[in-house]
Amino acid sequence: MTAVAIIGAGYAGLACAVELARHDMEVTVFERSGTLGGRARVVRKHDRALDNGQHLLVGAYTELARLLRLTGVSPRQIDSLPLTLHIPGQIRLRAAPLPAPFHLLTGLVCARGLNWRERFAVYAILRHLKRRRFQLPSEMTVTELLTECRQPFRLRNLLWEPLCLAALNTPAHEASGQIFANILRDTLAAASATASELLIPRVDLSELFPVPAARYLAARNGNILVSNAITAVIPENAGFLLAGAPGHRVWPQVVIATAPHHAATLLSSTNACPELANQIAALPSEAITTIYLDCGPGVGLPAPMIGLTDGPAQWAFDRGQCGSQEGLIAAVISAPRPGDKGHNDNLIPAVIAQLERALGFSLPAPQWTRVITEKRATIACRPDIKRPGIATPLPGLWLAGDYIESEYPATLESAVRSGINCAREIMAGKVRQLSEI
Ligand SMILES: Cc1cc2nc3c(=O)[nH]c(=O)nc-3n(C[C@H](O)[C@H](O)[C@H](O)COP(=O)(O)OP(=O)(O)OC[C@H]3O[C@@H](n4cnc5c(N)ncnc54)[C@H](O)[C@@H]3O)c2cc1C
Repeated sequence: MTAVAIIGAGYAGLACAVELARHDMEVTVFERSGTLGGRARVVRKHDRALDNGQHLLVGAYTELARLLRLTGVSPRQIDSLPLTLHIPGQIRLRAAPLPAPFHLLTGLVCARGLNWRERFAVYAILRHLKRRRFQLPSEMTVTELLTECRQPFRLRNLLWEPLCLAALNTPAHEASGQIFANILRDTLAAASATASELLIPRVDLSELFPVPAARYLAARNGNILVSNAITAVIPENAGFLLAGAPGHRVWPQVVIATAPHHAATLLSSTNACPELANQIAALPSEAITTIYLDCGPGVGLPAPMIGLTDGPAQWAFDRGQCGSQEGLIAAVISAPRPGDKGHNDNLIPAVIAQLERALGFSLPAPQWTRVITEKRATIACRPDIKRPGIATPLPGLWLAGDYIESEYPATLESAVRSGINCAREIMAGKVRQLSEI
């Protein structure tokens, strides 16, 4: 049996492990941290369990959904909302419970706060993209796409730019038009209305997939070694030695499933792929800040998720309505810039003031607050970046992670898909070997 070592127990590494274990392959996962999930993990402090950043999934995440079913995750662990855009006092758009495209068309007709020009502009951009078969010039930015489609200023400001930040974690003027078009193709313009649903996990992000994945692996003789960092990958005759792993085992197949900056370091340690290591190290990254405010029981937002304007945060989530933490609000700032409004030491008061302006009432002083900034949350999804594939110059050494070449930005779904692709390539190689015997 071919043994596979996977470095990293984030969504990519665990997706790869589950897919291999499903086909009876021997898998061992090495994880540096004591917690599974990587950038999508639970953080425990002072008896509280919080995600290291609020995450939103969409119905188009088909591979993640498949793995959740496979590993026995109940659909009740995720709240599913029809596509909704609610910016208090400005816009309220909710897809209707109808098949596509009538869900969106009816939602647009019934939307509050949009004039007819703006409603038509939403429809027009999708029609424009359909006519182009969702293929755009590779260097086009989202702002250029919006200009080409003559999107009104207010719609850019309230809808497309925040949507671009949420989906690509990159400001519209820097973000890849093509990747944004892919997202629109697979959500708003998809053949099924469920593709555009917004999915908010009710459980923490480690509990959502990593823990069920670990259970699935345990039942199939898979191993996960936590608090076990791999410090170097050393090519040997028939595979790779992993510095930091217990024993002196040579692994014929190794998947580096870490964030890009760690992957670049591990690749460099092979002394055999300097160009690839440099390519990955050069990928630009963007931060995400999540501000958690515990406002106490009885306090909530008018919807599970609302859009925010005129302040540092773009979105706020009510963890009482999507989860069981009543009174807990998670405000999200994607791709913050040092000069952004309110983005200084006064972040918490600035976000509270922003929420109060949006809600039209004063919030009680939070009982407890926490700010979590992931400095390298995702790669910047710009048109000019060069994302690598899963193969490396060394046969048997693979890459998985959200930064791998994909139709999608760096998300849970792209992480999972890269892991699955690695698993399939490894299994295809095994089949080729057997057929050559
Ligand atoms: C704040 C925030 C909000 C986000 N919001 C969303 C969202 O709403 N929707 C969405 O789809 N995506 C979102 N993302 C992106 C998503 O979390 C990532 O795309 C995804 O988690 C990446 O998974 P990964 O497996 O590729 O990498 P990682 O999660 O980084 O996993 C890599 C793992 O490798 C381990 N590791 C590193 N080096 C070593 C080593 N030497 N030895 C052993 N182990 C090692 C790490 O500890 C980690 O567990 C968000 C990310 C952040 C940070």
